[in-house]
Amino acid sequence: MDFSVSPEQRELVDAAARFSAERIAPTRRQRELHARLDPDLLATMGSLGLFGIELPERYGGLGLDRLTAGLVVEALSADDLNLGYVSINISLCGQILARFGQPGVADKWISGMVAGHVLPSIALTEPGSGSDAANLAMRAESDGDGYVLTGEKTSISLATQAGFCIVFARTGPPGSRAKGISAFLVPLDSPGVSRTEFDDHGSRCIGRGSLFFDGVRVPKDHLLGQQNAAFTQVMQGFDFSRAMLGLMCLAVARRSLDETWGHVGERESFGRPLAAYQGVSFPLAEAETQWLGARLLCLRTLWLKDQELPHTAEAAMCKWWPPKLAYDIVHTCLLLHGHGGYATELPYEQRLRDLLGVQIGDGTAQIMKLIIARDKAGREAVGV
Ligand SMILES: Cc1cc2nc3c(=O)[nH]c(=O)nc-3n(C[C@H](O)[C@H](O)[C@H](O)COP(=O)(O)OP(=O)(O)OC[C@H]3O[C@@H](n4cnc5c(N)ncnc54)[C@H](O)[C@@H]3O)c2cc1C
Repeated sequence: MDFSVSPEQRELVDAAARFSAERIAPTRRQRELHARLDPDLLATMGSLGLFGIELPERYGGLGLDRLTAGLVVEALSADDLNLGYVSINISLCGQILARFGQPGVADKWISGMVAGHVLPSIALTEPGSGSDAANLAMRAESDGDGYVLTGEKTSISLATQAGFCIVFARTGPPGSRAKGISAFLVPLDSPGVSRTEFDDHGSRCIGRGSLFFDGVRVPKDHLLGQQNAAFTQVMQGFDFSRAMLGLMCLAVARRSLDETWGHVGERESFGRPLAAYQGVSFPLAEAETQWLGARLLCLRTLWLKDQELPHTAEAAMCKWWPPKLAYDIVHTCLLLHGHGGYATELPYEQRLRDLLGVQIGDGTAQIMKLIIARDKAGREAVGV
C-alpha cells in the first residue's frame, strides 16, 4: 500500500484545510441555526475546485485518484462534517451519472454539482423499506417515450435543497426484488413532485425529508444504466462513498481529540493539569490508537478502489466502525471539557448529533456486518 500523494495533491488538501478553518468553521453555528446550506459558500467551494476531485475534467472535476479525494473530504469535514457530506454526495451522484447517465442528459447536472450550483439527492428508502432496500414499492411504468414514476421516498438527505434526485423504482413485476429495480435521474422541479421536510436531531443544515412522486414523467433517456439492473450497476458506487463517510467521521474525531489534548494539558484540578490523571489521559490514548487503525482502514479501502481491487467488505467496515468510533471519541472529548462541553457554544454536542445520523444513513451497522459476513462466509450461509 502506498498512501503518499504528490506535492500538487498535498497543496490541494492543504487548501481544503485552510478553507475549512477560514470559511467553514466560523459559519458552522449559523448553518446549524438556519438549517440551510449557504449557496454562496457552495459556489465558492466549487470555484476553488473542492468538489468532484475524482470526477473527469470534462465535468469540471480534477480527475484525481480516490485516495486524494478522501484526503480532501477529510480536510473539509473536520470543522463541520456536513460540508464533507455534501462533497461525498456530489462525488457519489457524479460518479453514478458519469458512468450510467446518457451524455446529453447527465452532463449539465454533473457540471452544476461540481461548480457548487446544484445539490444532488439519492432516494432508495421508502416508508415500508429501509435496510431491505430490494423490497421497495415505488413504481416506474414504461409509457411511450418515457417512464411514469409513482410512489413515496422518505428519509432523503437534502430533499428540500436538491435540484435533482437519483430515484430507485420498481420496473419489474412485484416480488422481483433486486432484479426488478431501475434508477432514474429526476429533476425535482418536474410536475408531480412534492416534498416535505423533517425536524431532525442532527445535520440540520443538510435536512431530511420525503419526496412524493405523483405520476412524474421522465424521458426514456433519464434511465441510469440498464432497466432492472440498478442494484448490480448503480449501487456499486456505495462502496466508495462508505469509505469516504468513514473518513468524514474520523476527521471530526481528530479535531475533537486535538482540541481535547490542548484542554486537558491546560485546565487544572487539584493543583495539576487534567492530563496528569490517567483517568483522563488513558481514554484519549485509547482513542488515538483506535482512530489510527480506523483511518488506515479507510485509506486502504480507497487505495483498493484506486487499484480496482475488491473492497466491498472493507467499505462496509468503514461504514460501521468509524462512525461509531468517532461518536464514542467525541463523547469522551465532550465529557473531558466538563460543563463547557455540554453547551452549544462549543461544537461537541452538535458533532455528536451529526455523527449519530451517519450511524443510520447509508445503511446501519447491522447491515454492514451482514455484508462483511456475506463476503467471508458466502451469501448462502448467511441467508440474506
Ligand atoms: C441522517 C440520515 C440520512 C439518510 N439519508 C438517506 C438518503 O439520502 N437516501 C435514502 O434513500 N435513505 C436515507 N436514509 C435512510 C437510511 O438509509 C435508512 O434509515 C437505513 O437504511 C435503515 O432503514 P430503516 O430506517 O427503514 O430501518 P429498518 O430497516 O426498519 O431497521 C430498523 C433496525 O433493525 C435493524 N435491522 C434491520 N434488518 C436487520 C437484519 N436483517 N439483521 C439485523 N438487524 C437488522 C437495523 O439495523 C435497524 O437498527 C437516511 C437516514 C438517516 C438517519
